[in-house]
Parts: sequence; C-alpha cells; structure tokens
Amino acid sequence: MTASPYPAPCPEAVLDSCPDALLVVAEDGTIRFVNAATERMFGYTRDELLGRDHRMLLAEGFRTGLQRIFFALRKDANASPAATGSNAGPVPAPPSFPPVEAYGVRRDGTEFQGEVACSLLAQDSGGDPTAPRSMAVSVRDTSHRLAADAGLREAMSLLTATLESTADGILVVDSDGRIDGVNNQFISMWGIPRKLLATQDDEAVMGFVLDQLTDPGQFVEKVSALYADPAAESHDELDFRDGRTFERYSRPQKVADKVVGRVWSFRDVTPARVAQDRITQAMADLAAQAAQLKSLAFQDPLTGLSNRQLFNDHLAAALLGPYGTAVDVLLLDLDDFKEVNDILGHHAGDQMLIEVGRRLRECVRPNDVVARLGGDEFVVLLVGSLDAEAVAEKIVDSLRVPLWIDGTMLRPSLSLGLASITDDVVGASELLRRADVAMYAAKVAGKNRYMRFRPEMMQSLLERTETEAGLRLAVDTGQISVHYQPIVSSRLGVVVKVEALARWERDGVIVPPQQFIPAAERSGLIVEIGTEVLLKGCTELRPWLAEDAARSLAVNVSGVQLQHGDFAELVLAVTSSCGVDPRQLVLEVTESVFFDDDCHVIRQLTALRAAGVRVALDDFGTGYSSLGRLQDLPVDTLKIDQSFTSMIRTGDEHLPILSCMITMAHGLGLTVTAEGVETAAQAEYLMNLECDSLQGFLFAEAEPEPALASAITRSAGAFAALRGGRVSGRR
Ligand code: C2E
Ligand code: MG
Ligand code: MG
Repeated sequence: MTASPYPAPCPEAVLDSCPDALLVVAEDGTIRFVNAATERMFGYTRDELLGRDHRMLLAEGFRTGLQRIFFALRKDANASPAATGSNAGPVPAPPSFPPVEAYGVRRDGTEFQGEVACSLLAQDSGGDPTAPRSMAVSVRDTSHRLAADAGLREAMSLLTATLESTADGILVVDSDGRIDGVNNQFISMWGIPRKLLATQDDEAVMGFVLDQLTDPGQFVEKVSALYADPAAESHDELDFRDGRTFERYSRPQKVADKVVGRVWSFRDVTPARVAQDRITQAMADLAAQAAQLKSLAFQDPLTGLSNRQLFNDHLAAALLGPYGTAVDVLLLDLDDFKEVNDILGHHAGDQMLIEVGRRLRECVRPNDVVARLGGDEFVVLLVGSLDAEAVAEKIVDSLRVPLWIDGTMLRPSLSLGLASITDDVVGASELLRRADVAMYAAKVAGKNRYMRFRPEMMQSLLERTETEAGLRLAVDTGQISVHYQPIVSSRLGVVVKVEALARWERDGVIVPPQQFIPAAERSGLIVEIGTEVLLKGCTELRPWLAEDAARSLAVNVSGVQLQHGDFAELVLAVTSSCGVDPRQLVLEVTESVFFDDDCHVIRQLTALRAAGVRVALDDFGTGYSSLGRLQDLPVDTLKIDQSFTSMIRTGDEHLPILSCMITMAHGLGLTVTAEGVETAAQAEYLMNLECDSLQGFLFAEAEPEPALASAITRSAGAFAALRGGRVSGRR
C-alpha cells in the first residue's frame, strides 16, 4: 500500500465537518454531545446545549417522538443483544430506527423541516439490560423539501389539533395490536400515567385499563372479536368500577383500502347516563305517586281502611251478586269519642281511630271490606258470611281490650248496628239506614254492645224525633218542672244543700232526664231548659235559702249552655232578680266542659266564681279526665259519681281509689260530695274517709218543692239513725 499524502483525520474534525447535525441524547432526554453542524443548524452554542433537554430543539407535535424511538430501540436491543463483534468483517450495525420526518426549532424560534435518524450508542453496558444508555441522533435539514411537504405538515397539524381538541379519548393501534398513538384526552380519561405509556409496554397499559372496568372479560372478548374481523365497526358501553360509563366506538384504520390498524374512541357519557337514570327514576316515582293518589281516592288516609266511596261500590256489587248470598252491614260508632278528642287531644283521638281500624281488620276475613265513613264511624261489609252476629260480637269484645295512648289507658267501646239483606230490602241505602237505626238502638240501650235491626226499632227512631218535637212543646208550654234532692252534711248531719233536677211530665208520665237531656242538648233546647231550672230553683227555694246563709242550691249546667252567649251574665241576672245571694248557688258541670279550645267556658266560670258562685265537678271519675288535672280547674267541689259509691257493698272492702280521690280533693282545697248513697254501709264508709257531704236515696229522693221540707226532715232523720248506729257500735 502506497503512503497517503493526507494526514490521518482527527475524529473531532470529522464530526465537526459533518454537514448533518449530530447529537448524543441520554436516556433521560438530556443532550450529552453536539457537533458544529448542530450549533449552526439550531443557532445555539455547544455550551448552551449540553446538559439541556433535547425537546427544546423539536417543534410542537414532535417533542415526544425521540423518546418513543429511544424506548423502541432499547426494547429491540434487549430482545436481541448486539453481537459482541468479531475481528473479521465490518462493525455490526447498532440498533437503529429508520429516519423520520420532524420539525426542529431554532434559537430564534423559526422552525425547519428535517430528517431524524437514531441509533443506540454502542457502548459497553456490561451486558446489563437495565443500565442507562444513550442514543446517537443525526438531523438533516430538509427545508428544501418544504414546499413539497407543506401540505403534509398542514394535514399533520390539523390532525393533531383535531385529536387534541376533541372531547373523546382516541387510541390508535396497529394491525398487531400495538399502540400507535393516543391523544391527551385518552390519557386523562383513563388516568394512564405517562410513564407507563412511555414504556410502550402495551400489556401493562391494557392491564391498567382492564383494572378499572366492572366487566373486564367482556372488554377483552370484544377486542378479540374485532381483531378476528379487522374491517368490522363496533359501538358499546363500558361500565367503570367508580361509577363512570364510557361509550366505546371502534372502526378500522385504512390506508388505500388496506386495514392497517384500528381507531378506538371513548366518550365519557356518565353525566348523560346519570341524567337518564334520574329521568327513569323520576318517571317511576311519578307512576308510584299516581298509583298512590289513585288508592288515596278510595282510602281513608288516617287508618288506611277503605273510604265511603269504596264501601258503597263494594256494597252495590254485593247486592248484585248471586241470589241467596248473605250480605251483612255492620255499622259502628265509638262511644263518647268526643271526650277522648276534647280531653286528650286530637293526636290521642287519631291514635284511637287507627287502633280501632286495626282491631276491626283483625276481626274479619282478609276479603271483607272495612271502611271508615268519617269521624268515629266505621262500617264492615260481610259477603257470604255464615254468622254475622258472631263477627259483631267479636268486634265489640275486641274493642273492650284497653289500649294505651301517650301513657293513658283508654277503654274504647262502641255501639254496633247490624242489618242483613232480606227479601224486603230494596237497596244499599235502605240496608245502611237499617244498620244505622240498629246502632242508635244499641246506643240507647246503654252503648258498648251490638244490636241486630228489628222493624220495631224504626218505631223508636220515630219516637226520638217525636221526643224532640214534644220537648219543644214542653218548653213552650211550661211542662218542665224541677225536683230537689237533699244533700246532707256529714259534719252537721243536716241538709245544707239541695240539687235541682229537671223533670218532664209528659201526659202524666215523668220522662227520665237521661232520655230528654241528651235530646235537649242535641236540639239546643237545653239552653232554655237550663235557664228555666235555674229560674225556678232560685224562685222556689229563695225562702229556704234566705233562712240560713250556709244553705245552697246546686243546679246542673250543660256544656252547651256554657258555650252559649254570656252565661255568667245570665246567671247573675237571674240570682239578682230572684234576690238570691250568688254565694248560695252551686253550678254542677261535668269534666268535658273544660276542654273547649278558646277557653270561653273557663272565662265564664272564673267570672261567676269571682261573684261568689261555686262550681262542682259532677260525675267525677266517669270521663277520661284524671285526678292530676284537678288542680288546674276552677272548681270548689268534687262530686264522686255513683258508680264509685256502688263499689261499696258490705263496707269491708278495700277501695283505695275512693280514699285517694277524697284525700287528693282535700289536698287541693276542694270539698267532696258522694252521689248515689243508698245504704248505711256506703254512708259510713264514706264518712270514715271524711267525705264532706252525702247525697242519695238513703236520705231522700228528689221531690217537688212542696214535698221538699219533709224530704229534708227525712234526710236528717236518716242521718241521725246512722249516727245512732255508729254510736251503738253498728257498722
Ligand atoms: P246528676 O246531676 O248526677 O244527678 C244525680 C242523679 O242521680 C239524679 O238523677 C238523681 O235522681 C240520681 N240519684 C240521686 N241519688 C241516687 C241514688 O241513691 N241512687 C240512684 N240510683 N240514683 C240517685 P236524675 O234526676 O235522673 O238526673 C240524671 C242526670 O240528668 C243528672 O245527673 C244530670 O246529669 C242530668 N240532669 C238532671 N237535671 C238536669 C238539668 O236541669 N240540667 C242538666 N244539664 N242536666 C240535668
Ligand atoms: Mg248533678
Ligand atoms: Mg252526678
């Protein structure tokens, strides 16, 4: 070989003379080496470039390219480690990547088109596949091709802009299933860490994706099916574990009719799905509400029983049923329900109605109709029942079981009228009317019972109407008289008080007050009757009262009177016109009068007490009131109802309720009168409990004024006999 006239070139000079920019980029992206052409091409000095991130030299849209190439090269290198090289032959090629088109950015911001080729830098990694590597990069300015590629560049930028601005996440995979590209939206929608994506480890990326789905199996199945049919398109939904929902579209990516890959696009439809779910739910709620409204139209809202409308429909249908089928109507009404409402309040009243409804349902078969007609009125319809009376009895019995409401024990009772279909019943309204008549008869007969309709009952209904008419006539023609019953003082043994009791003498027969007082209250005539009794009492007893200021006259007053006009004014006008001292008048009222909403009654009684009139609480213990309420009421005397007195039979009983009533009343500063004292044993028992006054047939019955004097004497005599018995040691 002849000697060369040229000196051997130094490698630096060669690199610096190279027209292409040559760089070495480390795995972490920093520039480790540049040649002179790099300085010229990009307008930076060598010092300005070394150690900096190579992406500063790449235009927008091309900045991640080199990193991807780097990883691809490393992967290849790890898959087929470079030959160690033998002494013979050329140096083996390092892993390299075919040149790609890219845009560089100069220091002054101008961009230029270039061709970039990369290869892994041959270096001794000591065989360690994880050791950091570097990449040799050559950049050739291809600006001369600019005009030709302008269209391509524009298309690229348009595509990039479109991909990045769409709300959909886009994933492009090649025919082998390798990820070709993704947009930012895809990455953020799936929350894929960029590091993971940069590894280009598609399996790891797929694992990350699958982990988020509620049904990963279905996802994989779909993908496999589409790979088997590259030209197919698909659309479905993916449900995420965190509640999100994506729509998934997939279509083939074609180049000149050849399928080269597949484009997947994902759209987050969670808000739309939530809205849709809400609409569906709202529609369901609406349908449920409509159904409820429909049922309410036929349902009693308080008890949940059928209402009148539904009952009428069932009754009409039953009457049209096969001939011979038994149809029974059981109409019932709670006894004294108004008192529960007035005394314990509407809440307690409601609870009672609900409980009654529940018990009624328990007494009948599931298909029998139980309806609330309103207030405290219920009705039961039995169709095909073998023994309606047994059911009626069961109902009455079931209501006798006490119930507790707000800590108070109540014993509901009801009056029930039973009417059954017979040949002469023409229709539903007649059947109901008969049940109503029977119910009324049950009430008159003493309540808390059932009665079957009998034609004679119509007669008593007629009589009821007649009673009211007759009573009006009696009031107008002065047929109402007053009888007086003596009340004996236990301490003095003499009569110090008499009670005025109204009497109606009708055609020579005395009609009992229990019959005409309720009728008078219903018709409002009680106002006139009460005034008449007060006026007659004051007039007839004025001389007896005048003899001794300690004597008094007791007059019964109904709640209706107290509610009517200025009752206090009327009473004081009567006493004043009759010349009776108001302090000699006692007004007897029952507990229920105190439970009016506007306190009108309390005001009236307070005004009367201020004028000296005293107030007695009549029939105490029969209502729903309790001893605890006594201290709040404007009363002076307690009248123990005769039902308590009658509990004393031999006189040897232990009756704590009586002693408790008396002690409590005394504790509150009230005097106590016992009603219905018929036997010596009762009188003695009560006197031993220090009951202040006694009233009853043992002493005298109520008598008209002319017979009163002898009744008073008889009373004192009876008392003296009693005392004599006590003195002589008899009980
Ligand atoms: P009351 O106010 O509790 O009157 C006592 C009733 O018990 C009277 O019945 C009386 O005759 C009766 N009685 C008295 N001692 C005995 C006894 O030893 N044994 C028995 N079994 N009964 C006895 P009467 O006169 O039939 O009056 C009944 C109720 O009618 C009265 O009960 C009162 O609530 C009402 N009433 C009577 N007159 C009037 C009135 O002028 N106005 C008002 N609003 N109600 C009246
Ligand atoms: Mg009375
Ligand atoms: Mg009484």
